[in-house]
Amino acid sequence: MARIYNFSAGPAVLPLAALEEAQRDLVDYKGSGMSIMEMSHRGKEYETVHNEAVENIRKLLKLPENYTVIFMTGGATAQFALIPMNLRGEGRVADYINTGAWASKAIKEAKLLGKVNVIADTEKDIPTRLPDVAALRFTPGAAYVHITSNETIAGTQWKAFPQTEAPLIADMSSDILSRPIDVNQFGLIYAGAQKNLGPAGVTVVVIRKDLAERAGGKYPMILRYKTHLEENSLHNTPPCFAIYMLALCTRWLLNLGGVDAITNINRDKAAKLYAAIDASGFYKGAAVKEFRSDMNVTFRLPSEALEEQFVKEAGAQKLKGLKGHRSVGGIRASIYNAFPVAGVDALIAFMKDFEKRNG
Ligand SMILES: *Cc1c(COP(=O)(O)O)cnc(C)c1O
Repeated sequence: MARIYNFSAGPAVLPLAALEEAQRDLVDYKGSGMSIMEMSHRGKEYETVHNEAVENIRKLLKLPENYTVIFMTGGATAQFALIPMNLRGEGRVADYINTGAWASKAIKEAKLLGKVNVIADTEKDIPTRLPDVAALRFTPGAAYVHITSNETIAGTQWKAFPQTEAPLIADMSSDILSRPIDVNQFGLIYAGAQKNLGPAGVTVVVIRKDLAERAGGKYPMILRYKTHLEENSLHNTPPCFAIYMLALCTRWLLNLGGVDAITNINRDKAAKLYAAIDASGFYKGAAVKEFRSDMNVTFRLPSEALEEQFVKEAGAQKLKGLKGHRSVGGIRASIYNAFPVAGVDALIAFMKDFEKRNG
């Protein structure tokens, strides 16, 4: 089998065990004579899968009773619009913290629909960084505060979250289930699945139930959190196969020991890679140290020509997907939950060798 080390930022590497199970069951799901993709989303088989996916996420996040998990489509990008529609309320302002390209897109959508106050902005800072939590000044009476917990492009990650009076809303697309969080601190968490949860096509929304009730009545049913909460994400046909994969991937994580177990693995992987960068003098981390992401490790080489050569040669050694986002350049190694430790070791060995030949 010719699996590579896939450093892609998303869609990203999936647990091999989950892929193999899906392969085994692809054309004949557990003796049913059909694929899970060919079944009614209201039938028994699919219902079991759907509910397992919800339960696995509840367990992994240690969700309190007053929170619910819903599955939606449209990616994190659809949430950029749905959040202000559902949660801001008529004439009210929402606080946003702009820490990069993704937050900036969320802000753009929210501005189309109403009032936004950008209370901190580090989008353009180089090296990339996050604002000082203690210095944040929230707008009195704001409907909510929106942050991006991990900036996938910049390679920055909030290490501690602000305590807010208004509900805190986090785009956790690229670090959900990668480390322990206290869910009670958040009103809503959302994540497109294709980075750290499963394949593209499903978006996970974890919402405090009272906030879902608040949902803007003037918007169509399909756009309200309340609808999806009340109908267990079966208001319309859900992305069944993506949710099935999500069930397999979250089961894999539970079997591994859950979020606590993966946190240690993630921290070790990232620490090793950053240590290799810092020890070299040839590679330079793109983010300020205290804000470095454990998921997306961004760094630079002495020139763009060398970066191009690095990506090309790494690719020839089965280390793929290392090119930084087109908007910022450089190198980005995305090392999500499913990314194996051996792949990080292989990258470090390649980096040492590349430096020796080009440093
Ligand atoms: C990838 C990403 C998005 C966009 O997700 P889509 O599912 O493509 O809409 C949004 N926010 C963050 C932090 C991301 O990493």
